Formats: sequence, structure tokens, C-alpha cells
Amino acid sequence: MANVYHSNNKDKFLLKVKEEIKHRFKDCNKIAVKIHFGEPGNKTAFKPEDIKPITDILNELDIKFFLFDSLVKYSSPRSNSKSYKNFALKKGWGKLGEIKTNDEHINVKGENLTYEVCRELVDADAVLVVSHVKGHICTGFGGAIKNLGMGALTKKTKGDIHYGGKPVFVGKCTQCGTCERACPLGTLKVKDKPVFGICYGCSDCAYACPISAIKTRVNYFDTLLAEGATIAQSRFKKAYYISFLKNITQLCDCESDPGEIIADDYGFLASTDGVAIDMAAHDIILENEGEDVFLKHNKKSGTEQVKAAEKFGMGQSKYNLIKL
Ligand code: SF4
Ligand code: SF4
Repeated sequence: MANVYHSNNKDKFLLKVKEEIKHRFKDCNKIAVKIHFGEPGNKTAFKPEDIKPITDILNELDIKFFLFDSLVKYSSPRSNSKSYKNFALKKGWGKLGEIKTNDEHINVKGENLTYEVCRELVDADAVLVVSHVKGHICTGFGGAIKNLGMGALTKKTKGDIHYGGKPVFVGKCTQCGTCERACPLGTLKVKDKPVFGICYGCSDCAYACPISAIKTRVNYFDTLLAEGATIAQSRFKKAYYISFLKNITQLCDCESDPGEIIADDYGFLASTDGVAIDMAAHDIILENEGEDVFLKHNKKSGTEQVKAAEKFGMGQSKYNLIKL
């Protein structure tokens, strides 16, 4: 069972992070810091000043690093290597260190898909996965698993995951309307059977149908995301996870408008285990908020992806929480 360090005190947290990085990355020449530079217009995604204390630690320890994010499939400056890098530079990320944004990859065959894992992360001596915890329209919750299950993969694979989670109607429909109520986009309408409109492939309607009249094209979105994260992590030489429970918005950093803040700030987490850190983030938020804010706002609990990632062997959902 992995330790998950939690603190609301930034200074105490950074001291522990320094100790952990010094110990775990001591033989590393160059590491990748996997972050999300934020969608243009998004005001709650990471800013360079959020990450600077971490890059300061790397500099103090004389560990060379670069900041990395992969490309997106939808229309955005983030869909192209050059324009994403320029955007990140404009936002001031270049002051922290070298920035890399590209889609170079290796292919890794999984049970459900062949995943294109970003080569920059595979080739680095270690990957420091720094995640902003917030909601997500398809997965309910986004943290470390999402940071790798989308963010460590190419735009083609991101598209394959969204496609693979899309619904297919099979069999008979009782017109109970459960799938219509489950669709976070409100685009699914039940007539004599479900009629799918604009669809992100979240698979919520397939989870919800009580008689399994809706299947997915490949597998549930959370299963594909979790398999992608597990496969990516399995190709890293070393990994360490840091999560910020701050500006917890309804939607993710890929949205220019990520919606309302749905929970208070609950500090910082660090762990060697990407599944444990997400489970701990989820538990801390639910315990303090008194309800599953992700289920309430996005119609899906974050535990679906956690369960799936644990099943694939990415890590363990049981953890030892150490308060700093
Ligand atoms: S997968 Fe189903 S629930 Fe999700 S967006 Fe598509 S139609 Fe709606
Ligand atoms: S949940 Fe299943 S049975 Fe109910 S309306 Fe949707 S497809 Fe039909």
C-alpha cells in the first residue's frame, strides 16, 4: 500500500516533495514534468507560478528537466506542436524551463486498443506527473489517471478513446428514459429507442441502461482511459505523482470555460502511486464536501476510472494517508 502525503501547508508539502524527489530521482539526468498548460481562455488551469516551487526544487537538486504536454484532437492552438508551444511561451511557461509539446510516440498494444504513448515521456529518465484535480465531462473527475490516460497519449489515441466509448444500441428498448437522464450533454433523446446526438463517448448511457440495450463501440470510456494510463506508466522508467486540490472546477482544463468551482481547495497530495493519489483526492473532496460533487455535476463518479486503473495494475486504491 502506497503512502499518500497530504498537506494544506504549501511549505511543509514542498519540504516533503523535495525529500521524495531527492531520494527517488537521484540517478536521473533529465526528467519530464508532465503538466497541462491550459486551454486558451481557461483561468483556473495551472499557471507558471503554481509549478515554479516544484521546478525550483528540481533546480536546487540539480536535476535537469523539461515541461511536457501532448497535443489535442479538437480545434485549438493545442492541436499543433508549434502553436501549442508558442501559446505556452506566451503564458510565461518558458521562464521555468524547456517546453516540449509534440505527438512523437511509440505504439503499445493493449487489450482494447493500440495506444500511442508519447516518446518524450518514455525516453525521459523519470516522469513527474503534476495534476490539477477538477471535474471532467466524460470521466466525472480528472487527476493523475486522466493526466496520463489522455495527456501521455497522442491526439490519435485520444480520439480512439472517445470513439471507443461511444454508444451502440443493441436489442430492445423499454423507453424507461434512464439513458436520457444519464447523458451529461443532454443530447441523447429516447423516442421508440435511444437517438444519439452530439456525443463525446463518455459511455454514461451504456453504464445506465438497466437492460444493457446500449453497448460501447470498444469499451467504457473510463476503461480505455485507465488502460491508456496504465500502459503509459508501464513504459516510464520511473514516476512520481503530485496533485493540486485547488480551483476544483466542474469541467477540465481543456475547456476555455471550465464552469463553476464545485468544491473548496484542499491542499496538495504526493505519492508514488497514481491510483492511490486519485483515490485519496476523491475521498478528501467527498469527505469534506459531504457529497459526491463529481457525480452531482458531471453524472459520473470518479471511482469508475480508479477501479479500472487498479484492475489493469496501474496501482492500488488503498493508501496510507500521511498528514503533514
Ligand atoms: S456516450 Fe451516451 S451519455 Fe455520453 S455523451 Fe454520448 S450519448 Fe451522451
Ligand atoms: S436506458 Fe435502455 S431501456 Fe431505458 S430508454 Fe435507454 S436504451 Fe431504452
